[in-house]
Amino acid sequence: MSKDYSEEYDYIIIGSGFGGSVSALRLSEKGYKVLVIEKGKWWKGSDFPKTNWNLKRWLWLPALKLHGFFRITLFRHVGALSGVGVGGGSLVYANTLPRPAAQFFKSGSWAGLADWEKELEPHYKEAERMLGTAKSPRFFDADFALLDVAKSLGKEDEFEAPNVSVFFGKGGGEDEKEVPDPYFGGEGPSRTGCVFCGQCMTGCPNNAKNSLDKNYLYLAQKRGAKILAEKKVILVKPVAATDGADGYYLSYKSSTSFFKNNKKTVKAKGVVFSGGVFGTVRLLLDMKKKKYLPNLPEAVGDHVRTNNESLIFVVSRKKDVDFSKGIAIGSIFPPNEDGHLEAVRYGEGSGFWRISSLPLVFGSNVIIRLWKLLVKLITHPVDWLRLYFTKNYSRKTMILLFMQHLDSTLRFKTGFFGMTSSVSTGKKPTPFIPLAKELAEKTSNMVNGNQYSFLTEALTGAPSTAHILGGAVIGSSPENGVIDTDQKVFGYKNMFICDGSAISANPGVNPSLSITAMTERVMSKIPAKEQTD
Ligand SMILES: Cc1cc2nc3c(=O)[nH]c(=O)nc-3n(C[C@H](O)[C@H](O)[C@H](O)COP(=O)(O)OP(=O)(O)OC[C@H]3O[C@@H](n4cnc5c(N)ncnc54)[C@H](O)[C@@H]3O)c2cc1C
Ligand code: SF4
Repeated sequence: MSKDYSEEYDYIIIGSGFGGSVSALRLSEKGYKVLVIEKGKWWKGSDFPKTNWNLKRWLWLPALKLHGFFRITLFRHVGALSGVGVGGGSLVYANTLPRPAAQFFKSGSWAGLADWEKELEPHYKEAERMLGTAKSPRFFDADFALLDVAKSLGKEDEFEAPNVSVFFGKGGGEDEKEVPDPYFGGEGPSRTGCVFCGQCMTGCPNNAKNSLDKNYLYLAQKRGAKILAEKKVILVKPVAATDGADGYYLSYKSSTSFFKNNKKTVKAKGVVFSGGVFGTVRLLLDMKKKKYLPNLPEAVGDHVRTNNESLIFVVSRKKDVDFSKGIAIGSIFPPNEDGHLEAVRYGEGSGFWRISSLPLVFGSNVIIRLWKLLVKLITHPVDWLRLYFTKNYSRKTMILLFMQHLDSTLRFKTGFFGMTSSVSTGKKPTPFIPLAKELAEKTSNMVNGNQYSFLTEALTGAPSTAHILGGAVIGSSPENGVIDTDQKVFGYKNMFICDGSAISANPGVNPSLSITAMTERVMSKIPAKEQTD
């Protein structure tokens, strides 16, 4: 293989989401020659679909020639939503960047290995600066409905606009004018103020969302980092020394064209795995199984967790509401000590989820749930049909996203059927969270609505999550983790894991800010190139 590689780099980064983008900028700033390999496509504002009915531009399902940026992956114990493309999950995410509560820093596999809250504090600050966090200056119908719920629980003092990575214009809202870079002293791209169209999760068409291609990746390219899109890394192996001391070979192939034999190999002194939980954990498990990286700890694939969340669609019967207006997540409040509730929206016309939903039913097994659905169909047929025939579905629909700190973990393994899940610790994750149901009922009463959930939840009992985390977590040794406190892989030199798979406890809130801050910390510890050569 040694004569076959086409190019050589100091660091190759697999994936361009939050962890990958931070790594690309910080390593290139330190003088390293950096290559980022990304499976998905480059997206410009004008390329994004107008609604999520445009499956070709929205969904990532290469087997059906769908090369969008939103991926749905179903496992026995969880259905996960994620992003694919240059900028990873930032293309599809709802911009919300809360800091986790103290419990996150003191629990999970990294507990006690450092004073994480103190160590990460400056990196959270830097992550917030780089991602341009701000609070929305305006609330809209879905936020007012959430405020009513907060009031009914005596929690209105804790109701607020979350920190989001959105540019609200110089005038602080609905400012459509393009202005020179407002964030990086003129070095970044020009930006346009948010118009509150609610389309953040189908791709911001208005240059207002601070996705990673507008900050970290943009600046990384200016410092020489090369980004290769539509290429999937399929192999990582040491050059000679089994611990990677002589560097690594990485092979990749096209992820959007099946017919060309287009495999290429490149060489690097160091590797950063940033493919998100599915990309990183799948590749690590595969490399361990095929004995390309046999030293990988047994903990690869273990400690996978979600935010223990529940997503419930509330569809209003009111004629005069427009829940589609605003930013994707416009308001939040904690309904109890452990929980976090957000009002989520899609933009006008994005009604795809109606065909993959069913009336909300709880039940410990599928027979009970099917029976309850049948009863609903017989006793409330109009409510059921309303799901499919409501005019302007996205205007009438607010999605309640409830998250909680409670913990349980899964284990991913590869086998004959690809990657599969099993319960590792605690109870198996469930979408049937009584408090989430209670909150959805309250909201429904306030907006005269009905409640629905993803049909996979009713049929399989597996919850859906946009926050799949862990699988390559921090531990004190290879016996209980995959990476050390500097996110270096046990058993290998110059190999890092910087993405959601390194999250080592349940943050209880949306995780991207924590992934960014943790990667900032790791990168701050790598010396500049001049010092090493
Ligand atoms: C609809 C939705 C809304 C969300 N909203 C929020 C929110 O408001 N706030 C929040 O904090 N989080 C949110 N999230 C979650 C957030 O997007 C993820 O937690 C975050 O993107 C994970 O970052 P990461 O660094 O782990 O990798 P990702 O951002 O997942 O990026 C990984 C990248 O690696 C690429 N890749 C994978 N494997 C390979 C390979 N073998 N070769 C090359 N490239 C590869 C993938 O294509 C992808 O682009 C949301 C997610 C979804 C789906
Ligand atoms: S609300 Fe519209 S303009 Fe504002 S960030 Fe979201 S997609 Fe962009």
